[in-house]
Amino acid sequence: MADTISEITVAPIPARHWTELGRNAYTPEGLGETRTEWLVRARTTGGVEGLTNARHTFAAEGGSLAGLVADLREVFLGRTVDSLLEIVDGRAVAAGADVRTALGRWGWIDILAVDLVARTRGESTAALLGGRRRDRIPAYESTTYFQDLLHPHRGLAEVIAHACRGFADGFRQFKIKVGRGGRAMTPNAGLQRDIDVVLAIRDVLGPNVQLMVDANFGYDGQPEKLAEFIRATSPSRLTWLEEMVTASVDAYRTLRDLQATHCPDTLLVAGEVDGNPPSGAFVDLIDQRLIDGYQPDIVRIGHLRWKQLESRLAEQSILPIPHNFGNGRFGLIAGLALATGLDSWVALEDERIRPNVYADDELTVVNGAYQAPDGLGLGIDVDDEAYARIGAPNEVVIHA
Ligand SMILES: [Mg+2]
Repeated sequence: MADTISEITVAPIPARHWTELGRNAYTPEGLGETRTEWLVRARTTGGVEGLTNARHTFAAEGGSLAGLVADLREVFLGRTVDSLLEIVDGRAVAAGADVRTALGRWGWIDILAVDLVARTRGESTAALLGGRRRDRIPAYESTTYFQDLLHPHRGLAEVIAHACRGFADGFRQFKIKVGRGGRAMTPNAGLQRDIDVVLAIRDVLGPNVQLMVDANFGYDGQPEKLAEFIRATSPSRLTWLEEMVTASVDAYRTLRDLQATHCPDTLLVAGEVDGNPPSGAFVDLIDQRLIDGYQPDIVRIGHLRWKQLESRLAEQSILPIPHNFGNGRFGLIAGLALATGLDSWVALEDERIRPNVYADDELTVVNGAYQAPDGLGLGIDVDDEAYARIGAPNEVVIHA
């Protein structure tokens, strides 16, 4: 008898960063320490369990638990696992006809479908998506927010200490939030602090780490300050400049000129606000090669669709560099499973969520990289004892 999805549970799971995070250019307050994952566990009549994090549904306008339960019931409950995906020569190539709209709408639905099918077939997510491509997965430390403003009496020293702790914890790539001027500080003081932070972290961590910056559009409307930031930080040999300004062809032509003049080896990247297929200004930025890397969110796009996006971007020599902030501990697990099966890989965004409900003791960054998973599906299961304490008290059970 075909394996059928017979029970689904949903539970909010607290996801705590390793430390308190300050604000960035667009958040009015610090990000604090705790976010929420919405863990979905779908079980089949054959005893297989697939996992996902539905938090993007809650982040969207009008998102609710009632809506999520209705979606899960409609898309998954009572459906056979082998109807979820189209498989050709052992590889997932498309969503199944009956669930195509749902898988295209929400990446987390796509991830759950891929996980269920892979586990049922007795293989990893990477194998189902086309094969294992790597054993080590470089990841970057992505929590260097405006830590100086969280602890203003320590200022710059606090940001440096934050980055040093990340290095001690095994990271070798660091993304630094910038864009303080006119947002979190006065324009001149903010520009100077942005520059000081980059130069100081390069100085203290040395020449062998990779450093990136992300302005969250903080340099919009400040072309002279943007030029000064790029000029002044050019000795730091940044790996990429992310979302320095809002995406538009005009703004990125200017940015491309500055980059070509001051830091020709630095990539211009953007796209976490966009999806798949690319839309709006991103179509032009990609077509005109005004960005070098495109960054939609892993759990918003999904695994199957990310694989499709990868081939599309490869035609234009654009690197896919997944956004993964806000996806919780599940985001790390899903990111590693995806990276294992991708042809091109830059680095996984790691928001450094502490272990919560997954049996993931082996997940440790060593010398800048994680081990690629090789278990079934996503490669990681829920820890029943932890879930009983953390998830079960708030669990909603959906069954026929
Ligand atoms: Mg970003």
